[in-house]
Amino acid sequence: MKLHEYQSKAVLAQAGVPVPKGSVADNAEDARRIAEQLGGRVVVKAQVLMGGRGKAGGVKLFDDAESAGNFTRELIGKRLVSVQNPQGMVVERVLVAEQVDIAEEYYLSVLLDRDVQKLVVMISAKGGMDIEEVAATDPEAIARLHVDPAWGLCDYQIREALRQASIPPHARSQMVTMIKRLVRAYVDADADLVEVNPCAWTTDGRLVAADAKVSIDDNALFRHPDLAGTAEDSADDPIEAEAAKRGIAYVRLKGDIGIIGNGAGLVMCSIDEVAAAGGRPANFLDVGGGAKADRVKACVELVMMDPGIKGLLINIFGGITRCDEVARGILEALQQLDLKVPVVARIEGTAADEGRKLLEGSPLVSATTMREAAQKIVALAYG
Ligand code: GDP
Ligand code: MN
Repeated sequence: MKLHEYQSKAVLAQAGVPVPKGSVADNAEDARRIAEQLGGRVVVKAQVLMGGRGKAGGVKLFDDAESAGNFTRELIGKRLVSVQNPQGMVVERVLVAEQVDIAEEYYLSVLLDRDVQKLVVMISAKGGMDIEEVAATDPEAIARLHVDPAWGLCDYQIREALRQASIPPHARSQMVTMIKRLVRAYVDADADLVEVNPCAWTTDGRLVAADAKVSIDDNALFRHPDLAGTAEDSADDPIEAEAAKRGIAYVRLKGDIGIIGNGAGLVMCSIDEVAAAGGRPANFLDVGGGAKADRVKACVELVMMDPGIKGLLINIFGGITRCDEVARGILEALQQLDLKVPVVARIEGTAADEGRKLLEGSPLVSATTMREAAQKIVALAYG
């Protein structure tokens, strides 16, 4: 789950990383008041979960509280569009923070390197810009430092990496400390990403996290109830947000064939079969073990929120999940949602015969194997 910048900065501050003072506001008057308390010289930053806010017009510096308030009025309710996020996101809140007098901008991040099964710290002197671009045009400018899970990081290793990354000597001592604290923040918060871009070297010689992006491992959210409350409004996609609210494992994909199954493996397999048959899967959805009719109906409803859906494939292998329960859910969904698209169901396993009997006479098409189901839905949806 991605955290907003202001939440990310709170996580970093807890680990002792220096961040500029600031507060969030959802209206111009609050923003003006915060700016006044900070002395007027502030930066107003749109709190939307996308990169490139600066270029999209969502970050602006001010010398007085009045202008900061006016800009907030302009920004709230506006849709920001960036290269990374062409559909854009509507601004609901801004962060009003004390302005940092930036002399140099660096890049720091901590993430998991799955290939070597260790955390990796990425360091670059080319901060402030899009790191993907740096990686593409000048990969040498990014130094990578792996963190030993038992020993952690030693100062000399960090210093070596800073030299490699061409971080100027004057910033190195503070950066050694900051890197150790970023790694601690990553571990303590059960993060799957910690990124500081820019990591700013100020005109008065301090290293400060001027921007922060933290993402928390969804599977560890139960250990962070203070952050978990924001899960719903932090999803990028409105259907994914609704799924989070209903507790349904759903991931939106780019295609137009809706997919529902039970068990993550079976769902991914169904996605592969649909793709192999020439279809474009619209989503991943796992109804979960032991799903009852209500839940199946809620899942169908969720998938159909995507306006581009041309067909729906339901692939259930009953174990704990009873196929007759699934069938009841499908029937209720068909009746109440007035589906206009073809539906193919392959149900097998516990109480499959009862389930199939229930579905007889419905407009739904049945199939015996997963492959046959995938081919049928592709033919019907695009036919
Ligand atoms: P992003 O574009 O979404 O990554 O937003 P950032 O918070 O990184 O802001 C974009 C750019 O605005 C940064 O790279 C800085 O150059 C500039 N910026 C942000 N905050 C400040 C600040 O406090 N002072 C100064 N001088 N520039 C800032
Ligand atoms: Mn940034």
